[in-house]
Amino acid sequence: SIGKLFDLAAEKNRDKEALADVSRGVRRTFKEWQGEVNQCANALLDAGVRKGDRVSTFLFNCAELATVFFACAKIGAVLNPVNFRLKAKEAAFILNDCSPKLVLFEKALQPEIDALHEEFPRVQFWSIDSEPPSYAGSYQEKIKAASDSPVEMEISENDLYAIMYTSGTTGRPKGVLHRHRDMIDQAMVCSIALRLTPNDCGLVAAPMFHCAELHCCLLPRVLLGAKNVILHHFDPKLVLQTIKEEKVTLMFGAPTMWNMLLQEDLQTADFSSMRIGLYGAAPMAPVLVKQLKEQAGIELIQAYGMTEMGPAVTFLAEDEQLSKAGSAGRVCFGHELIIARPREDGPADPDDRLEPYEVGEILVKGPSVMAGYYKRPEASEKALYKGWYHSGDLGYLDRDGYLFVADRVDDMIISGGENVYPREVEDALHAHSGVLDAAVLGEPDEKWGEKVVAYIVKKDPSVTEDELEQFCKTGSSLADYKRPRKYIFTDQLPRNASGKIQKFLLREQLAKQLNS
Ligand code: AMP
Ligand code: MG
Repeated sequence: SIGKLFDLAAEKNRDKEALADVSRGVRRTFKEWQGEVNQCANALLDAGVRKGDRVSTFLFNCAELATVFFACAKIGAVLNPVNFRLKAKEAAFILNDCSPKLVLFEKALQPEIDALHEEFPRVQFWSIDSEPPSYAGSYQEKIKAASDSPVEMEISENDLYAIMYTSGTTGRPKGVLHRHRDMIDQAMVCSIALRLTPNDCGLVAAPMFHCAELHCCLLPRVLLGAKNVILHHFDPKLVLQTIKEEKVTLMFGAPTMWNMLLQEDLQTADFSSMRIGLYGAAPMAPVLVKQLKEQAGIELIQAYGMTEMGPAVTFLAEDEQLSKAGSAGRVCFGHELIIARPREDGPADPDDRLEPYEVGEILVKGPSVMAGYYKRPEASEKALYKGWYHSGDLGYLDRDGYLFVADRVDDMIISGGENVYPREVEDALHAHSGVLDAAVLGEPDEKWGEKVVAYIVKKDPSVTEDELEQFCKTGSSLADYKRPRKYIFTDQLPRNASGKIQKFLLREQLAKQLNS
């Protein structure tokens, strides 16, 4: 189990520094941290949390979240890390769905927590800050009062370890159930892909509630005895400073985060300690990869995956970034990936496979696949039809087995009967030096069925629609029917916490404009 692996790592690396929460000023060696994880596990038991009970966290990044993560694993409690960006109503949906025994929170999310406490008066709330509100307990006091003796519980690799709600770019969030063994697989897969060693020092700047940071980065580093440096949230200036001061060797970031770093003054930045920058969770334009390499000298590895797979499924290595630009790489150790013909009336049939370069639905299989969606037998059966996880992503494989992710099945535009993959148009627009960010979607159109619309965030304020139109015509390799027929300039694109553009919000906005 993860709890057992944590103890083995802690005992092997006793006096090594394990954690540095820069924002809260907390530093722990493995030995100190192990004591605290045991205290936390005992405090949870004292509070009546038992094997199988859910423990929700409503926290930004912090050492406490890492501690609770391993404490839950030790007692077989099911961790439910909630997205800190959710409003009370959205978070209430999740708490209602998974009915936790306990919610751990922090001051910065107080208004949401007040509302949640009112709605769930029987749930225990613990604050990680001093001076919690009157209805809440103090995490610090609870663990101080608990024993630090080792927790001896029989937890097997098949026991549940977490319930994580998918970002829900479509519909209501679903609770993805993962077992200990799923995460142990992810820790191995990521250790191999990133060639982790105990000398690595990872910066945790992307949200820890998301499995990309928690399972692909923090977990394998802890189990290997490497160090984790935690930042409360992603702040580009602080990221640059911390990389320099803590001699960070690895960092994961969604494409937007890397893009934000590039907008900083890099003169005083020092990336000499950085071994690898990991990106993923959303598509990144090849031009950005190139800029990061050229302007910051950062070697990059891409990961593609989804919460349901724990998440990592494919990796694109450092030396493939340019030769296989635009690809998400090859399937990882111990996993399988195929492209199947999409069907309108149900999940794609894994026996109906497509040839290289044919675009279809990406199906995957591997030891880290979820146990299912919590309380959603029908959705689980559809998603795991015939033993393959159906990603809902469109893509193709090239002849060498490299995956190219096109888009979400639901985001594809059909204009005049031709398929347009927004990602391709977005990548082309990103290549214009005056474009900071771009999102492409379809707008209902009488003549063409749908027409291509581009939302643009300018880097250079003087960029005009005509210029972009010309650029697409002559400076890109976009076919005529793929070119945007309408440009909308905006200050910012709506993105969720894992960096994905929330196209449903843009679609709503477009619909409102059309009807007004
Ligand atoms: P989530 O369930 O929040 O982890 O989101 C998973 C989805 O993010 C996938 O189904 C993809 O649509 C998208 N995604 C993740 N990684 C990548 C990547 N490297 N390139 C393109 N899309 C990605
Ligand atoms: Mg998903």
